[in-house]
Amino acid sequence: MNLFGLLDQAADRFGDRGAVFCGERELHTWSSLRERALRMSSTLGPPGTRIAVASENRPEIVELMFATWAAECVVVPINYKLHPREMVQILDDAGVSQVFASPKIGAELTSATEVPVETVDSEAYSARVSSSPRERPRVTDPATLAWLFYTSGTTGRSKGAMLTHRNLMAMTVSHLADFDSPDHNCSLVHGAPMSHGSGLYIPPYVLRGARQVIPSSAAFEPDEFLDLCEHHPGCSAFLAPTMVQRLVQTGRSRPHNLRTIVYGGGPMYVDSLKKAMAAFGPIFVQLYGQGEAPMTITGLRRADHVEADDAVLGSVGYARSGVDVAVLRDDDTPAAVGEIGEIVCRGDVVMAGYWNNTEATRKTLQDGWLRTGDMGSFDERGFLTLRDRSKDVVISGGSNIYPREVEEILLEHPGVYEAGVVGAPDEEWGEVVVAFIVGSASPAELDAHLLERIARFKRPKRYEYIDELPKNSYGKVLKRDLRDRLGR
Ligand code: AMP
Repeated sequence: MNLFGLLDQAADRFGDRGAVFCGERELHTWSSLRERALRMSSTLGPPGTRIAVASENRPEIVELMFATWAAECVVVPINYKLHPREMVQILDDAGVSQVFASPKIGAELTSATEVPVETVDSEAYSARVSSSPRERPRVTDPATLAWLFYTSGTTGRSKGAMLTHRNLMAMTVSHLADFDSPDHNCSLVHGAPMSHGSGLYIPPYVLRGARQVIPSSAAFEPDEFLDLCEHHPGCSAFLAPTMVQRLVQTGRSRPHNLRTIVYGGGPMYVDSLKKAMAAFGPIFVQLYGQGEAPMTITGLRRADHVEADDAVLGSVGYARSGVDVAVLRDDDTPAAVGEIGEIVCRGDVVMAGYWNNTEATRKTLQDGWLRTGDMGSFDERGFLTLRDRSKDVVISGGSNIYPREVEEILLEHPGVYEAGVVGAPDEEWGEVVVAFIVGSASPAELDAHLLERIARFKRPKRYEYIDELPKNSYGKVLKRDLRDRLGR
């Protein structure tokens, strides 16, 4: 089993139909996409080689993924919003041999790493897609690694969730069974980053011959997105909750070709969801997943949103096809209905472990279960509601930010004695980062200090100055106390 088989099937069936579009413009048919992927693939290898893709949303990402899989290599998508320093950490951790980058990211990255960086507009890249094509892969073990999904670690270091061909195939089948049934008259419009959720959805839509539409701005611009959903047939998209809100704020009504919006990856407030449904109708699907069980733990289907009460709309739904989900007490016994415990899941979608990190793998995969680090409870109808996260993470606009990482950098500033970072609820972003500071450094100084070291989106939106951080008798900072001060 090889994910390349999905493209192969689409090319056999829909050969001369449009496959990849930049905005409204057709770039490749399914046949030419397969051809390009196989030609590019012949320049990659040997099997197991890690190949990074560091780019805003661009059409080349689609061919790069399938080329990498055809060569039985591993794609390492990198969030383009990271600081080059953070990107290099991932390249080093994953032992990447080759980076394919957009011109913009390539320019920033080349001087920061010794790993070869090739931009997708270069002659070298064109030469690869003109090489002789590789034979199609025949027998790939489904346990072969396909994707290293990097998430920020609680310790500040990124961890690579190892996703195999089997994992992504299970995700694909579950998506087609539960959420969406596209065909060759449909389109996947890439609004969210293709290095994460939107890219993970490439396989199910490719299998059905649905167009891959990449906005020409390479970003998420609500009006452009809605225009594309007027132009292309049968559109679906994965969007972070903040993006859904931005669509609603345009005041526009649903483009007639927009069929499905899958939202998730972070909390969506019930009120925002109701506004979105009032604006666009019952086209929404919710997923709850994480890098370690990509896009697939629980979900709410389109029909579940219709005439649903607030408890259902505020939940993350019920177990996805092929996934077992349970809530466990501290002693690992199952929690009763309504009782909060840690959410665990198992199934073919669950990662093989963390790359080169047996300690983290041991803590996260236990007795066949993935410990999600999320706390939640089931109601008597089987709907799961997230209550808290046992991992100390802030999710802002769909991006995960680990407070510890920001605190460590803040503490490097000579004008900071103590720093405590928490998330505060926010109408637009879901949560925003707030830093409590004991010290004399000004917000402008701290901003400048952080911008040199970590990604812009991790920067606190607000600084609160206090005399001392609240601590328990062991000296541990009481984060809950800090959150309470923000009215959370
Ligand atoms: P990531 O690994 O970056 O995809 O982040 C996964 C985390 O995002 C999960 O462990 C949850 O804490 C959170 N998350 C994902 N989906 C949802 C959702 N539908 N509602 C609330 N939080 C979510």
